Amino acid sequence: MKEIVILGAGYAGLRALHRLQANVGDFHITLVDRNSYHYEATDLHEVAAGTQSKEKITYAITDVVKPSVTTFIQAKVETIDRETKKVTLDNGQVLNYDYAIVSLGFRSESFGIAGVEDNALEMVDVDSAEKVYHHIVERMQDYSKTQNLDDLKIVVCGAGFTGIELLGSLTESRSSLAKIAGVSADQIEIYCVEAVTRLLPMFDEKLADYGISSLKNWGIKFLTGKPIKEIKPNTVIYQDDKETGATKELSANTIIWTTGVSGSKVMETSGFSQRRGRVIVSDNLTDPDFDNVYIVGDVSAFMNKENNRPYPTTAQVALKMGDYAAKHLLAQLRGNEIEKFTFKSLGSVASIGNTHAFGMVGKSAVKGYPASFVKKAIMDKSLFATGGVKEVLAKGRFDLYH
Ligand code: NAD
Repeated sequence: MKEIVILGAGYAGLRALHRLQANVGDFHITLVDRNSYHYEATDLHEVAAGTQSKEKITYAITDVVKPSVTTFIQAKVETIDRETKKVTLDNGQVLNYDYAIVSLGFRSESFGIAGVEDNALEMVDVDSAEKVYHHIVERMQDYSKTQNLDDLKIVVCGAGFTGIELLGSLTESRSSLAKIAGVSADQIEIYCVEAVTRLLPMFDEKLADYGISSLKNWGIKFLTGKPIKEIKPNTVIYQDDKETGATKELSANTIIWTTGVSGSKVMETSGFSQRRGRVIVSDNLTDPDFDNVYIVGDVSAFMNKENNRPYPTTAQVALKMGDYAAKHLLAQLRGNEIEKFTFKSLGSVASIGNTHAFGMVGKSAVKGYPASFVKKAIMDKSLFATGGVKEVLAKGRFDLYH
């Protein structure tokens, strides 16, 4: 009997599990994850802003594990040795495998900027997202005692997809935060400091402007074209003048870091040929040197031949990769061949709060209230892809159908 290990129970890992469990054969699966639950990484900003509970965006991994085929181990992967086909876990266990599906996900990228790890909050998993929310609530509580205006200031560093969605949710929670501090909502100042001036390059300029102007109308203050150079305690230092390099400081008692992601550190420590934790994979999503090791999701870079750039690290790509890896693995086991992996984007939609969104669906732009329906349908679809009917019924976004 062949042994398959799936490392990581994110979008890609669980999608692969789903397909393998639906095609039971002469194999056993071991699924490993550091948590006992799967979380919807695309919804972390809601937990960070306090607009959604942790429970709403998570479900128990054992809910989707078929014990007759799969063993689930809750542990951290330490190293993957592709020569000896062994995975070492932090609980001391060593797993032998015939096939591995590596889907270890992302971490926050600081780009080596001083002070980020120590002085900014990250939003990479459920615990860190909850920590952001608790931190903000504590600052609001402090304000009622200290009257320090910096307690009312929140800075989001980076205006990528994550930063924009977080800003949208923060505008939504502003009134309830204001109540805690005993101030009016407009006294809570929310800033976004961003390196470039042309935001959200994946959208055309008009559509990106729509999203940014909505946030500006709701009171978000954007500082664009201002690369962050350092984070000191309660202070963001950014370059204010490109010519002279002169910097300015923005003080705030909540600083959240969302300037991009890299793949799991395990890729580097296990000697994969990687850049920022991502491995350029073959046309079948395998390691170029080991055709029994699939690399999928945020640790994988699959090149888009049209522009010679890797596809972005999104849930949509991760789900497709997980599905394909399982299909290809089943074909390998049966001695069959299948077509190479291809990806065609269905578009992407950014939420700005619960009732607004903007983005592209196929070739059509969507925005405003109707776009938030589309966004919720996308969220339900991806929940279905890993969790099935049960999780959609329990955690789906049914305000869609009101
Ligand atoms: P990102 O790379 O998309 O955006 C990071 C932003 O931070 C960029 O605008 C960049 O210019 C800015 N930045 C980088 N360094 C900076 C600095 N020193 N100072 C100021 N600004 C700086 O990263 P992300 O938003 O974390 O998203 C990561 C991935 O996840 C992307 O591929 C994104 O598309 C995807 N994502 C998708 C969705 C969705 O589809 N709804 C939601 C969230 C994230």
